[in-house]
Amino acid sequence: MAASQTPPGQCPQCWEHAHNPRIHRKLKAREDCKPCLDHMNNGCPYLVPKTASKWW
Ligand SMILES: [Zn+2]
Ligand SMILES: [Zn+2]
Repeated sequence: MAASQTPPGQCPQCWEHAHNPRIHRKLKAREDCKPCLDHMNNGCPYLVPKTASKWW
């Protein structure tokens, strides 16, 4: 299953990490995901615009 398209209003990175288990699979059991931590602490720098979409 491919979750490559991020829905409007979502952060592409957070979406990708939340829906693609392979990204976190390479981390060790207790290892933190740096990109996820960064977005959690600093917020997401970019969200997919809700209006500009040709997928709808
Ligand atoms: Zn992550
Ligand atoms: Zn994010």
